[in-house]
Amino acid sequence: MFPPAASYYFTPFPPLNGARVNPTSSSPLVLITGGSRGIGAAACLLAAKQGWSVAVNYTRDAQAAADVVSQIQALGGRAQAFQADVGIEADIHRLFEEVDAAMGRITGFVNNAGVVDVAARVEDMSWARLERMMRINVLGSFTCAALAVKRMSTRHGGAGGSIVNLSSAAAVLGSPNQYVDYAASKGAIDTFTLGLAKEVATEGIRVNGIRPGLILTDIHASGGQPDRAHQLANQVPMQRPGTADEVAQAIVWLLSDAASYVTGTTMNVAGGRA
Ligand code: NAP
Repeated sequence: MFPPAASYYFTPFPPLNGARVNPTSSSPLVLITGGSRGIGAAACLLAAKQGWSVAVNYTRDAQAAADVVSQIQALGGRAQAFQADVGIEADIHRLFEEVDAAMGRITGFVNNAGVVDVAARVEDMSWARLERMMRINVLGSFTCAALAVKRMSTRHGGAGGSIVNLSSAAAVLGSPNQYVDYAASKGAIDTFTLGLAKEVATEGIRVNGIRPGLILTDIHASGGQPDRAHQLANQVPMQRPGTADEVAQAIVWLLSDAASYVTGTTMNVAGGRA
């Protein structure tokens, strides 16, 4: 007996190449954490262009989130911004409940929100720094994915879906003298992706990860190294940093039915540096 066909989830509309999108009440819905800036914002816009309705999470920068929503609406798409800090358990529960009420049941979820810290050696990292890193990058990702599973899993009456976790090339490089704590948090995400994918594979849910390399976003400035992606570009076999849109392409492909037989894998999007 073959397992059920991979048709639990809605198929997003084909790419529209800049044409106005035309969402309907049956458009699939994706929630993207940290969707207001950088890779998350690029993923929100690309997902909308491919027919997804988009719930855009942010934590501080309401204007940036509103801009992403406006850009999607200008294309004729459906989007709404939701404030929540994924490092706070109560915020995560509120986020999912607000998305349920305002937009409906998700069939796509992207664990994108993540933070770095300033460059430091391991022996100089405080407990408070480690706790923040693991709370946002690891506990937040676990808790968000758990709530996504409760909405998607056929075990819970859901229609299935796809979860994409943002890891990092740091997970396999280790980031010595920079942020081993961040690298280790992303190593945890790689293992989480593998285990969760196997756990929910018969419940209509695919779970995959992406390991971006040096991508041109504000995250480097938040770690005190605004030019980091350019400065380290000579370590990249392709000799250049990547763009948020190049990562978004991989995220939205993994969300889509085009990746219907892909689960439990983590894809490098790193120009060969991983
Ligand atoms: P970014 O430019 O710093 O943007 C971060 C986004 O996450 C913002 O929308 C921010 O919202 C949101 N955010 C931050 N903390 C949050 C929290 N506690 N709760 C909810 N949202 C939060 O980051 P990025 O470079 O696009 O990175 C996105 C993901 O890719 C991260 O997981 C990162 O680790 C991973 N990654 C990035 C690179 C890279 O080179 N850029 C490389 C490897 C992996 P506000 O604007 O409201 O603060």
